[in-house]
Amino acid sequence: MLDYNSSASLSERVTTLIDNALASERDQQTPRTYLGGSRLGVSCDRALQYEYLQTPVDLGREFSGTILRIFEAGHVFEDLAIRWLRMVGFEIHTETSQGEQYGFSAPDGRIQGHVDGILSAGPDALKLSYPALWECKSLNNKSWKDTVKRGLILSKPVYAAQIALYQAYMEPVIPGISQNPAIFTAINKDTAELYFEQIPFNGELAQRSSDRGVRILQASDAHELLPRMVNDASYYECKFCSWQDRCWGGHS
Ligand code: SF4
Repeated sequence: MLDYNSSASLSERVTTLIDNALASERDQQTPRTYLGGSRLGVSCDRALQYEYLQTPVDLGREFSGTILRIFEAGHVFEDLAIRWLRMVGFEIHTETSQGEQYGFSAPDGRIQGHVDGILSAGPDALKLSYPALWECKSLNNKSWKDTVKRGLILSKPVYAAQIALYQAYMEPVIPGISQNPAIFTAINKDTAELYFEQIPFNGELAQRSSDRGVRILQASDAHELLPRMVNDASYYECKFCSWQDRCWGGHS
């Protein structure tokens, strides 16, 4: 409710209203009942298991309004990238003939993923091979520069695992997609600079990611809590983990 006597600035009050509306919208969405394929490259099995089981996050670690706004802004950047690619002659498909987002579901629908796009053609001069998986991320300046400097595999291993897994699981849907390098696009959210990288299929990484998904499902079915990634609660990834208190506080 608005408090007209509040000393908060107009920005704070309007932002609070927007954040509350976004949180309410998110709360009305049907919770995910599957393990997201895009997450199988994250470092910690236990964190992934918490995520899959929809374990409540620690108090005060819920998604903030800022994070929800960043997620939505990411979709806008992706739409822009699609428009720009089409302007220069790429044929990019984001939906099946039934109007659904391209994706996969395995095994028994408990691991699922949705792809940003499928490239079926592009400018001849670039000599790329099709069909190719297209994955797009919008990154802040520091993260974008690190990706350009070190390449996707070293800079963003979670995205690299996602791409490998998606190439493998999309092969029955789009034959040939795993034989051609994926095209990774990163947009610098601060400067609008663009980065493109070809990512050859890494079958070993895809298998490892898939095996990991199965391990998390099996452990969850058996009510077994998977091990922590480290033995030190002050490890930097634990500090940012949404379940740090639960993980190290003896709850399970
Ligand atoms: S606190 Fe650390 S070890 Fe525990 S689930 Fe999170 S990342 Fe894994």
